[in-house]
Amino acid sequence: MIQTQLYIDGQWQSPIDSGTRPIVSPADESVIAHAAEATRADARLAIAAARRAFDGPWRQTTIRDRAKLLNQIAGLIERDAEKLAHLESLNTGKTLTESRTDMGDIAATFRYFAGLVASESGAVNEAPHHVISRTLREPVGVCGLITPWNYPLLQAAWKIAPALGAGNTVVIKPSNLTPLTTHHFTQLVAELDLPPGVFNLVTGGAEVGAELAESLDVDLVSFTGGALAGESIMKAATGNFKRIGLELGGKNPNIVFADADLDAAVDYALNAAFFHAGQVCSAGSRLMVEDSIYDAFIGRLAERLPRIVIGNGFHGETQMGPVQSAQQHDKILGMVQAGIAEGARLVHGGKRPAGDVYKQGYWLEPTLLADVTADMKIAKEEIFGPVITAERFGSEAEALRAANDTPYGLAAAVWTRDLDKANRMSRALRFGTVWVNDYHPYFPEAPWGGYKASGIGRELARIGLDEYTELKHSYINLAPQPMGWFGA
Ligand code: NAD
Repeated sequence: MIQTQLYIDGQWQSPIDSGTRPIVSPADESVIAHAAEATRADARLAIAAARRAFDGPWRQTTIRDRAKLLNQIAGLIERDAEKLAHLESLNTGKTLTESRTDMGDIAATFRYFAGLVASESGAVNEAPHHVISRTLREPVGVCGLITPWNYPLLQAAWKIAPALGAGNTVVIKPSNLTPLTTHHFTQLVAELDLPPGVFNLVTGGAEVGAELAESLDVDLVSFTGGALAGESIMKAATGNFKRIGLELGGKNPNIVFADADLDAAVDYALNAAFFHAGQVCSAGSRLMVEDSIYDAFIGRLAERLPRIVIGNGFHGETQMGPVQSAQQHDKILGMVQAGIAEGARLVHGGKRPAGDVYKQGYWLEPTLLADVTADMKIAKEEIFGPVITAERFGSEAEALRAANDTPYGLAAAVWTRDLDKANRMSRALRFGTVWVNDYHPYFPEAPWGGYKASGIGRELARIGLDEYTELKHSYINLAPQPMGWFGA
């Protein structure tokens, strides 16, 4: 049985009150680990350690030291990729293929930021000859990093790599439902020769996250999760006006025009919505199809859904695993029922699959609700499960209006062969990512984040590093003379 501990000030330790939490497999509800469950008191110790480390020798590290560190971490992830992928699948229920992809992406993220950090150089500004004026990037300080349960280590990597690369110290708090890969990652970091306090792991629930958001000793909080927690973090951050980065939820339209390549669009509609059982912030769960092809499109989806292989993520033939928790399972079923009550037509799914293997665990059939209208709750709120809601539209203007009529703005996709229309739509959609004739690809070089209620700030890309830096104007007068402004 896996037992996890906290990692504070370079030491593995139990929480002050010895708290633990059973970690449950979403595939069969068995207990797979006992995780240390920290309280605010433990978080305070970790923050203090990170503060001391930031104010100490860590400040003297060079960009070469830190680029080397990120590359070393990437190497260790590659070494342990199979072990990490197994842990991720065990804890989240996602297929092993997905977890392996995550681990490749995580190593790539560390290598990308290693390259970016190594190329940091600041700028010398044009100034009078007796003045040296420089624009410098400096670390922000102590960073509190709070991550969700759907992509536990991937989301952590998007924060840890730029935070450490920019010269900050960190306290990471993964979701207390899925702490196992972040714990293993911490074991990898512990193999390296880092000064105590530079990297701290505090596993626990919302109160630990709240401590990071409230603490006056934390200079930046980067959070990925739901809107409710995001709102409370934003308010808490005003205590010392700490920097915040928020990556929140989405309600992401996948818009199919009649002139699209329909074979590809049908196939990708499944991938957009059912990848990781729909528990993806950018899931394309809101399908919008042009009137003239709507019935045929729904018909083709209806043929495909029953063929999706639901099962344990460790079985090679599995295409979709369970959802992560009992709470999610109940919430998703509740949303489906609410949709039906509002007049949506259940085409497929909406229930636990039949069969003994699905009696334990948080299983759901891939679900299609058709004839949804934009005013329904299921068209507006994030479902975060394997559910497609399908709406029809009559014109480009109507599709655009309906797609943008959401408080969220994370991701959208457009399917068309008309490049002019593709360009118009991608410019007019108010979303942080707009895919045309594709769904889901992202990479370290491109920014990730949302418009409107989907968040504040961006991760990945150059800006994902800049978010962890302060910009300083350093002005040195080499030949000061009395100015005489107020006379002699
Ligand atoms: P959540 O908001 O419940 O929890 C996220 C993290 O915040 C967890 O570690 C949790 O313990 C902590 N937390 C909860 N309440 C807190 C509080 N008041 N103060 C501080 N910390 C608190 O989210 P979740 O259910 O774990 O994740 C699902 C959500 O995450 C979805 O809405 C999804 O769209 C979003 N998400 C967004 C992105 C993105 O890139 N935009 C990526 C992944 C997930």
